[in-house]
Amino acid sequence: MAVEIKHILHSGIFHPLLRQWQSRNVEITANNLMYPIFILDSPDAKEEITSMPGIYRYGINQLKQTLQPLVAKGLQSVLLFGIVNDESKDPMGKAADNQNNPIIHAVPLLRKWFPNLVIACDVCLCPYTTHGHCGILKEDGTINNNASIIRIAEIAMSYAKAGAHVVAPSDMMDGRIKAIKEALVNEGLSNQVAVLSYAVKFASGFYGPFRNASKSAPKFGDRSCYQLPPGSTGLAARAAARDVSEGADMLMVKPGLAYLDIVRQTKDSFPEYPMFVYQVSGEYAMLHHGAKNGAINLEKVLKEILLSMRRAGADCIITYFTPFILDILQPKSKY
Ligand SMILES: [Zn+2]
Repeated sequence: MAVEIKHILHSGIFHPLLRQWQSRNVEITANNLMYPIFILDSPDAKEEITSMPGIYRYGINQLKQTLQPLVAKGLQSVLLFGIVNDESKDPMGKAADNQNNPIIHAVPLLRKWFPNLVIACDVCLCPYTTHGHCGILKEDGTINNNASIIRIAEIAMSYAKAGAHVVAPSDMMDGRIKAIKEALVNEGLSNQVAVLSYAVKFASGFYGPFRNASKSAPKFGDRSCYQLPPGSTGLAARAAARDVSEGADMLMVKPGLAYLDIVRQTKDSFPEYPMFVYQVSGEYAMLHHGAKNGAINLEKVLKEILLSMRRAGADCIITYFTPFILDILQPKSKY
């Protein structure tokens, strides 16, 4: 039986350009990528992260040579995470913004070396606290929310003053976006620094390798009292709406692949806000090991996943695969 004329789909995809037209508005370019970088407090160090093969922690003196080739390939933005040694940690996370903090040192240098690179700084307490939680704790071990957001805003301000274009609070304390925005206004920086909220961050098993990378695992308990339960679509909507009302400039959903319905839900609710998706460490590790063991073709599968994130509404994808993707994106000679 003949196919109905309207039901013929193959006529739209027989040529590469036609296939591109069918995929409009979800292409992957360097603009859609942000590269997370771990910066150590020992300037010359370069350590491979065992749980994330191919990803390193860098001392400040390694950054220029590491990033130069990526910037040459079109890298547009980075997300910085500081890492300090255990002796520098305390219950208040003083090392998050004291004079030895690697982020405070790195930001002005990165601005100087790469004037067109957008510098985002993760803002949290967990890499700097002895207890490894994302806020200040009361004596009973629960979160002291008011003390936490005051401290989070202080840290964000230190990074802003160091020259960050974007501060990205990942702590999930209530009210931290408002606290940061008010501090930026008071410091006269509200027109120079954007706030990227980890608005919808789930308590996820996909973070395991990152905690090894940033040495930030909680010493007791877990983060389920301040990160969202994986099944919570309603709370996810409330979290995004709250951060919008508090003045967030950009929103994020984290992790990525397992939460694309939430990405779509958030983007549909706030289409006027740039939407970020964090393809987290566990997602990286699964793909890396899957490809290494021959189960998948990394380039093909990664492209599919990135497109799924773009289809779901992501404007920017934070991914450890950024160098690999930039390589894929390089123009290839036709002859
Ligand atoms: Zn944290």
